[in-house]
Amino acid sequence: MATLIVDDCINCGACEPACPNQAIKAGEAMFVIDPRRCTECVGFYEREQCASVCPTDACLPDPDRVEEEPVLIGRARRLHPKKDFGVQFPSRFRAGS
Ligand code: SF4
Ligand code: SF4
Repeated sequence: MATLIVDDCINCGACEPACPNQAIKAGEAMFVIDPRRCTECVGFYEREQCASVCPTDACLPDPDRVEEEPVLIGRARRLHPKKDFGVQFPSRFRAGS
């Protein structure tokens, strides 16, 4: 599922540069995530980086956008066509395994 920024956002901006997919932008009232660019950091990290840096725990899994690893790594490959992700790419689905 894509990650969602909820009302707890205090507009600190820490998440924007942390995203490997440039999925986060300042919105009208708070920062927002473009779900078409969010891979839950699959392909890059074992944990969602926006959630890791957020001081208010405002970056949460979006229950209305449940997506599995193949969809997310496919999105990462489309967004970064020159990058070789291989088969052992970092993924929150494999974290700790
Ligand atoms: S989960 Fe990762 S890819 Fe998605 S918005 Fe957060 S930092 Fe970007
Ligand atoms: S890191 Fe958290 S509080 Fe800061 S802008 Fe991003 S979502 Fe909002």
